[in-house]
Amino acid sequence: MSKQKRIAIITSGGDAPGMNPAIRAITLKALKCNFQVIGYYCGYNGLIDEHYTELTTRHVNDIIHRGGTIIKSARCPAMHTESGLLQAANSLRKCHVDSLIVIGGDGSFKGAEALAKHWSGQIIGIPGTIDNDINGTDATIGFYTAIDTALGCIDKIRDTAQAFERTFVVEVMGRDCGIIAMEAGLASGAEQIICKELIDDEQLFLDKLKEDVALSLANDAAHSYVLVMAEHSLSISAQELAEQLKTHTGVDSRSAILGYVQRGGAPVAGDRILATQLGIEAVKHVKLGHTGIMIGVENGQVKTTKLADTSDTHARNIDFVAKLKEYRL
Ligand code: ATP
Repeated sequence: MSKQKRIAIITSGGDAPGMNPAIRAITLKALKCNFQVIGYYCGYNGLIDEHYTELTTRHVNDIIHRGGTIIKSARCPAMHTESGLLQAANSLRKCHVDSLIVIGGDGSFKGAEALAKHWSGQIIGIPGTIDNDINGTDATIGFYTAIDTALGCIDKIRDTAQAFERTFVVEVMGRDCGIIAMEAGLASGAEQIICKELIDDEQLFLDKLKEDVALSLANDAAHSYVLVMAEHSLSISAQELAEQLKTHTGVDSRSAILGYVQRGGAPVAGDRILATQLGIEAVKHVKLGHTGIMIGVENGQVKTTKLADTSDTHARNIDFVAKLKEYRL
């Protein structure tokens, strides 16, 4: 039998649908390996405040279908300070934690790396963020649900846009990554997808965009026109863009910001399966004594990436822009 280990889990940064299935998978797999599991509340804050709970089968039995995270998530500014990091490390020692599994985005992994300078236990990352902006995995937990949620909303907006022959600018989330905009835009048949990966010169981009919209509406004014825009992709808001389009084309233009709905809801099958797979694999790596890695899935294969390399998204962005240019009709 393997050595009895004590595993701690945190969910950190923006919450994402699928975090609960990941907690469930880690807990059930770990208990099978005869490990103990605790969950710290509210990301790194739980470490600093020593606020945690033991996780058993009873806690995770009925959570695979639930959005959010039973151990809560949060940002934790104290992790950016030396004293915060020391407190977090001391708390892990005090609770006799051998291994910390961090479910979060690239910021959370930076926190994990910073913590590793003060704590010698194992740290394993699981990509959990709707933004899908992490190197070393094709998808992050929460991404599939977020796209479906955005898609459902855009389809509804299309109906009303069609009825009123309006132009709509729909802003989706993604932080600094346009992949939610791209996938929701492709899936909804949006006439335009706007994300910063496509923009070298914003003014030139906007001038061309307005011309394209005007030309399309001139050819077929009696139809709707939907632009899916990633948040932070332009220096102007979705509303300002809609106003500029109205002025330029003469067609009634509105905007809608989808916002936090994209973070909520029951995780779709893709996120539940990914979360289960990554959770189980994380415990296998705990058992093997590995540390400083994130578990991901690329081309159907489980793979590990050093935490330090997870924020290097340069190659990913090149693939992303190529796909967007190829498949946008
Ligand atoms: P999402 O992309 O979904 O928002 P994230 O994990 O990238 O998730 P962040 O807010 O960037 O979200 O990071 C979460 C937390 O990780 C921060 O609140 C902070 O506690 C910790 N963290 C982030 N960057 C660092 C860093 N450079 N050093 C120490 N801790 C960090």
